[in-house]
Amino acid sequence: MTILALIVLIAVGAILLAGLVGLVALTRRRPKLPTPPRPDGPIITGGAEASTDPETTDPGTTDGIPPDTTAGTTTLERPESTASRLVRLRQRLAGSQGGLGRGLLALLSRDRIDEDTWESIEDTLLTADIGVGPTQELVDRLRTRLRVEGGRMPVRDVLREELVTLVDPTLDRRLGVAGTDGRPGVVLMVGVNGTGKTTTVGKLARILVAEDKTVLLGAADTFRAAAAEQLTTWGERVGVEVVSGPEGGDPASVAFDAVRQGLERTVDVVIVDTAGRLQNKAGLMDELGKVKRVVEKQAPVTEVLLVLDATTGQNGMTQARVFSEVVDVTGIVLTKLDGSAKGGIVVAVQRALGVPVKLVGLGEGPDDLAPFDPHTFVDALLGDG
Ligand code: GDP
Repeated sequence: MTILALIVLIAVGAILLAGLVGLVALTRRRPKLPTPPRPDGPIITGGAEASTDPETTDPGTTDGIPPDTTAGTTTLERPESTASRLVRLRQRLAGSQGGLGRGLLALLSRDRIDEDTWESIEDTLLTADIGVGPTQELVDRLRTRLRVEGGRMPVRDVLREELVTLVDPTLDRRLGVAGTDGRPGVVLMVGVNGTGKTTTVGKLARILVAEDKTVLLGAADTFRAAAAEQLTTWGERVGVEVVSGPEGGDPASVAFDAVRQGLERTVDVVIVDTAGRLQNKAGLMDELGKVKRVVEKQAPVTEVLLVLDATTGQNGMTQARVFSEVVDVTGIVLTKLDGSAKGGIVVAVQRALGVPVKLVGLGEGPDDLAPFDPHTFVDALLGDG
């Protein structure tokens, strides 16, 4: 009898303990969202129920609709505008990349530039990951100009001009986010896990919301359990919804679903996060190829952004080549430039893929993503002096 009572006691204890553990886990998982003021621009209100109501999903009718408090999001953030991002990001770029510009300037400003100095200039450029070809080109042009123009133009201005030419201001860096025939623009985000792909989807959604566009996200990275949850947290903050599927499910079917819902709800842009497992090339090709094919049954893909981590140097370049052989990459996002002094990768990767860097990530903050601008970049390299 006492043994039976003991067993019952243990069983009840175990159930209570399991309940307590579950409760703690649930509380921990709930994202903590700040509650800044609600934006005024047209946005999709959060919450699954709101999403199925065509009235609330029509961008023309969302203005003035109060946020859906049942979804747990009471107020929405107003993302930073592009103009003020650029000012702030320029300062951050100057911090991480300033050494390169200042180093070059110091070498080029010497009274006499001998062969050793030119060699040091080459080393500085190579260390910044600009790449062998572009380094040689830049050094040749600088040599010629300094010899021919000798002193007529300040060294700093010559260097600025040549660096801007190297980064190439003629490339079209606008994002393809405009759809045709009333269909949404479709952005595919591709890249290896860990490069900042999912974070960039969230940050890009914020840029588009700041530009008064309606956005829907597709969490097609079904292989990483946390990816959909991560996107939902990003989306909730600015009233952008996320279409996701079962963990380990077919990424293409989530992508298909996201674009279908984007069409139905007449949003401006659908951004699809894809899986970035670095498996063999054939597997990657199958996966991304299928995602693109099924999406295009409904709307053309208007932009394929390849996300690269600036801190990975040559490794990143190898990844970039593999991805560009698998999908038609139309733009590059260079993340983590804040944590790398190797801004030269901008030049190297553009040359290698023949595709412009369109966005740069300069921190983990929600608004630490900005359009890439060659002049701002070079000015940050050279500092204000
Ligand atoms: P994914 O696996 O490619 O989707 O990568 P995540 O989006 O999960 O990002 C991986 C890590 O990189 C996270 O800790 C991000 O906060 C961080 N990260 C992303 N972009 C940047 C950036 O521009 N700068 C810095 N410093 N960290 C970043």
